[in-house]
Amino acid sequence: MNSLQRATAAYLGLALGDALGSTVEFMIPREIVAQYGVHDTLCGGGWLHLPAGAVTDDTTMALALGNAILSQGKVEAIAIAIAFDDWMRAKPVDIGNTVRRNLLYFRKTGNPEAPYSDHDAGNGAAMRLLPVALATFGQSEAAIRAASRAQAHTTHHCALSDAACETLIFMLHDAVRGADKNYLLHQHAHPLVARYPEYKFRATRQIQNPSGYIVDTIQAVFQSFFDTDDFRSCLIDVVNRGGDADTTGAIAGMLAGAHYGITAIPNPWLRVLNSQVRQQCEAQAVDLMSLAAIHDAPR
Ligand code: MG
Ligand code: MG
Repeated sequence: MNSLQRATAAYLGLALGDALGSTVEFMIPREIVAQYGVHDTLCGGGWLHLPAGAVTDDTTMALALGNAILSQGKVEAIAIAIAFDDWMRAKPVDIGNTVRRNLLYFRKTGNPEAPYSDHDAGNGAAMRLLPVALATFGQSEAAIRAASRAQAHTTHHCALSDAACETLIFMLHDAVRGADKNYLLHQHAHPLVARYPEYKFRATRQIQNPSGYIVDTIQAVFQSFFDTDDFRSCLIDVVNRGGDADTTGAIAGMLAGAHYGITAIPNPWLRVLNSQVRQQCEAQAVDLMSLAAIHDAPR
């Protein structure tokens, strides 16, 4: 399996996790069991009353971000803030509070960097970061961190969010290279916990009903990703925890897609995924990886 196939699987994984999780977003596990037993189909519904295979802000913001990066040929904060603002004007099905507040700040000030706040530790910057990960594949660590922050700070300017976003991007890069799970755990997940102990996800409680707080989100995603053995089980495990299930599904889906690759993605899910979204994810994966290859080429 080559890196482009893994990148494509990551993008489809993001959309599939979002679509699967949206059905049970804001439900608690007990309610999910009562209504679905185990929720494992892209059946739509949920609090947003979505058609089967539809995605939410997690995927549509990622696609807006990907378009902004491709139009500039690089990760550029102003272009990203404009793309997100246009996305907000188009009345998306859902939008996070921090995203809305800081995009309104951008509209007023023209500053694409939101004011720093330790309270803006939601998962909104992490859920949509995949295009930055693909576009910076092969770049230097400093360039990757700068690109991650340019993207994230358009709405979430917060140290905890930055740490999670950068960890996810470096993990995605190694997963796309085909690294094994143990390597991802020791090279990326454990160092995040060493720096910010609140992210501890091993030898701790099973995270249930994870909120939109980035720490809850990452703990649930890492527990599901590291403690299951295939793409489908990982996504089912994480969304059945309820809470911010579309977002835990989206982030787990990127990681699991990159790690297990395109052949591991269940066909019954792919067939139901909104076909326009599927096409855009596949096209952006190709285009963003070509952009990365141009930057990576010897000069
Ligand atoms: Mg959402
Ligand atoms: Mg959500």
